[in-house]
Amino acid sequence: MDESAVARRLANLRETVRIGARRGPVSICAVTKGFGSEVVALAQRLGCDAIGENYAQEVQSKIAEVGTHHPPVHFIGRLQSNKIRSLAGVVAVWQSIDRASLVDELAKRVPGARMFVQVNATDEVDKGGCRPGDVASLVRRARDQGLLVEGVMAVGPTSGDPVATRRAFASVRRMADDLGLEGCSMGMSGDIDIALEEGTTLVRVGTALFGERPSVSRNPEVI
Ligand SMILES: *Cc1c(COP(=O)(O)O)cnc(C)c1O
Repeated sequence: MDESAVARRLANLRETVRIGARRGPVSICAVTKGFGSEVVALAQRLGCDAIGENYAQEVQSKIAEVGTHHPPVHFIGRLQSNKIRSLAGVVAVWQSIDRASLVDELAKRVPGARMFVQVNATDEVDKGGCRPGDVASLVRRARDQGLLVEGVMAVGPTSGDPVATRRAFASVRRMADDLGLEGCSMGMSGDIDIALEEGTTLVRVGTALFGERPSVSRNPEVI
């Protein structure tokens, strides 16, 4: 990994989000899935706002190696209820909560946890996220159990089509606003600009910072 290149890309990204932010500061979550713990350590050194990881086993072993909890780790991948307990000491923000069973297990294992409700805003099959019509009830369920719902999270359309991306992100922003939520986690390497224009507050960026991932599929939905 060329550290100075990553530092340069991060500086550019910071400038992009500073200029493009529509609703207050936009946080940068550096997605390190597929890379080794040295890339997590690099993201830490460079002062990213958050680390994004997708896989339970992987994040546990990497955080064990780097041995620190700053910046906070955001879990952004498909989540199984039975993994929550073992991730509790590692994950600070749970971005991929998309069903009642996950809400209930999270409330039980990590009282007061910070979380997002993930919505499948593009109505694609086999994609993480609840249906748009279920966001409000999941938010209510989480709040009722004392969880701290920070916002709504979504992945843009797999097609990458800019019109569909904008439509999806605008709908996510609207859902968050309707529920009084400031947070909107949307925008990845390929669609950051649209996400900014539609009012994201947190972008999740991997390849645009670190280059191609070595060991996992680039498709965020494939485990
Ligand atoms: C992998 C992943 C990202 C980062 O994707 P890039 O295209 O590398 O920026 C963001 N969000 C989620 C949910 C992911 O799985």
